[in-house]
Amino acid sequence: MSAGGFYAEGALVAVLTTQPLDRLLDYKAPEGGCHLGAFVEVPLGPRKVLGVVWGPGEGGYDLGKVRPVIRVLDAEPMDETMRSFLTRAGEYTLTPMPAMLRLATRSPGLGDPPSMRTIYRLGTGTPERETDARRRVIAALHDYGGLAFTLRELAEMAGVSASVVKGLVKQGVVSEEQSPRDLPYPRLEPGASQYTLTEEQGAAAEHLRSGIAAERYGTTLLRGITGSGKTEVYLEAVAACLKAGRQALVLLPEIALTAEFLTRVEARFGAQPAEWHSGVTMTERRRCWRMVGEGGAQLVVGARSALFLPFRDLGLIVVDEEHDTSYKQEDGVLYNARDMAVLRASIVGAQVVLASATPSLESWANAEAGKYTRIELTSRFGAARLPKMRAIDMRAETLPATRWISDTLAREVRARFAAGEQSLLFLNRRGYAPITICRTCGHQVGCDHCDARMVEHRFLKRLVCHQCGETKPIPEACPSCKAEGKLAPVGPGVERLGEETASLFPEARIAVLSSDLFGSARAMKAQIAEIAQGGADIIIGTQLVAKGHNFPLLTLVGVIDADLGLQGSDLRAAERTFQLMRQVAGRAGRASKPGAALLQTYQPEHPVIRAIIAGDEEAFWAAEAAERKAAGVPPYGRMAGIVLSSPDVQAVFDLGREMARRTGPLARIGAQVFGPAPAPIARIRGRHRVRLLVKADKSAPLQPALAAWAGQFRLKGDLRLSIDIDPQSFY
Ligand code: ADP
Ligand code: ZN
Repeated sequence: MSAGGFYAEGALVAVLTTQPLDRLLDYKAPEGGCHLGAFVEVPLGPRKVLGVVWGPGEGGYDLGKVRPVIRVLDAEPMDETMRSFLTRAGEYTLTPMPAMLRLATRSPGLGDPPSMRTIYRLGTGTPERETDARRRVIAALHDYGGLAFTLRELAEMAGVSASVVKGLVKQGVVSEEQSPRDLPYPRLEPGASQYTLTEEQGAAAEHLRSGIAAERYGTTLLRGITGSGKTEVYLEAVAACLKAGRQALVLLPEIALTAEFLTRVEARFGAQPAEWHSGVTMTERRRCWRMVGEGGAQLVVGARSALFLPFRDLGLIVVDEEHDTSYKQEDGVLYNARDMAVLRASIVGAQVVLASATPSLESWANAEAGKYTRIELTSRFGAARLPKMRAIDMRAETLPATRWISDTLAREVRARFAAGEQSLLFLNRRGYAPITICRTCGHQVGCDHCDARMVEHRFLKRLVCHQCGETKPIPEACPSCKAEGKLAPVGPGVERLGEETASLFPEARIAVLSSDLFGSARAMKAQIAEIAQGGADIIIGTQLVAKGHNFPLLTLVGVIDADLGLQGSDLRAAERTFQLMRQVAGRAGRASKPGAALLQTYQPEHPVIRAIIAGDEEAFWAAEAAERKAAGVPPYGRMAGIVLSSPDVQAVFDLGREMARRTGPLARIGAQVFGPAPAPIARIRGRHRVRLLVKADKSAPLQPALAAWAGQFRLKGDLRLSIDIDPQSFY
């Protein structure tokens, strides 16, 4: 290898492929040579596979047998920081490198030749015979100066058929050219904020700007109640980053939030940034991936997987709503995007902003420990204040079993309706009813593939398994005793709550917001915007509405079942409930009218409910931190969740017990192993699931020990083992 990481033709290179192999493969550099980090296509048996040149080959065998790289792909080589990020993220999450590489190569058409498209612009010739249609084409091109269009765009603009344009091309009046399909994104102009920042905001922005100017790593926990201007402050950091000529990434937890954010960026920077999430077309994804690598995208707004885009010069990563559970990827590679953002930034010398009204205990503890800088925005914008919060003690209310809105809450809703204000009824349960039960034999309709109940969705007219997605028609007869017409819904979902609301308030306009009621993110966004402007009097919603949407006319939030998140064995149940309640309550009174939040609960004296009502966050965090410290659980200890699964229930328990017996490598670092136990959901998609839990001290080298421990066992047949470092959920 010569300086600059270049391998001349014939040199031996080691290639990391996306195939599930546990080692690098040696090849010879192709004609013209290749760079370290180059994306390549290599032969593997009879196939051609994707890979990246990872270093010099090993050699030490018959070099005559080594096959050459087939070709170098048309993409910027993966730089050293990205290779090191993938390696370290793989080590942390115990993910094999090929799976890490797959995350970093999720661009459609990565192996395609440079893709071109045909465009049309004004040529130099004059038309042989002027027709109306021809004149319209020429006029259209004149109107737009030197701009070029695709055939379809031009024909549509001029209102002519494609053949008219083609005819003009023959005469040289219109010129036909090839241009690269993936165009750079419009340049963003990092101008000033339209607002005069408050002193608090100004100081926060200044802190972030100086971090960016220093071109070094640093993480800031930007905490502030909803409406305190966190977004405005981190946009200041984005502006500073773009001015410095570096790239910025903003991660959002919900696709539904991107549209609002894009509009805000456009208003501030004059154009829309690049987008990366599941709602983006293949063509746009491809463009985004390439432009990020070539420097043609200054700012990317995206979902967690945007962290694996090939940024050339990343200066800032914002993780908005950093506490949100959707940042944890729960299948495939199990990573937490918030933690990986910090890792990537520390490697490239970038700043991280973790923004939240209700930070995770992890981030709170990191700030306490001095690893993150904590900045507080305390005042809310304009006249709006945090809503008054009050518990409704459900033990004192008399409600029939098929109603969930207490008289106290109903009275408040009625008062808002009369005053022309909006109310939100929050219930974190999709569908019509969580349980369908037979009134004759008591049978509960379950999923055929999972140990989960089927949830009735009236809107879809089906039963749905929220675990595996399986659906079936609502049966006429009980699947167990065959009695006809005896199946009854038990408990409320948002759809059923919608019915109850409609019967209580027949004159009100009611909107149910639940992710499964919309065909697309765009449709959902459109409806939310309409509702926010007054398109509904009463909004019924799941956690979807807890995430950052603005409802200026909203003055009342009623939480139907505040106890819902307190149940279950989840270590973070209290934290989740606290965050969710605070956020939902934060929807009320965002504009100038004061808001109120009412929480229906059967446990008004529960510490979490009391902390929410008192609005005493510090007290909540301190109490929660003390409890976890005493228990030695995250973030004060380390945990890993092991899930074994197989269609064969015997095999899965046998392996679980063997793993619990032979704990050598874990015992040596002082880690404890709990289990095996049936997972809370003991069967998913026909696979039986068994869990083990590993607990270790904060300073113990957990990953290598886990790898050595798991490496002792052979996974026979269809057994699967997955390791989840820092598990977020326990299902
Ligand atoms: P957060 O992200 O904390 O919810 P935002 O940045 O979205 O807060 O700000 C909330 C609202 O207040 C937005 O409509 C924003 O335009 C407005 N705002 C923020 N800072 C200022 C300011 N300094 N002057 C006037 N309006 C502001
Ligand atoms: Zn199922």
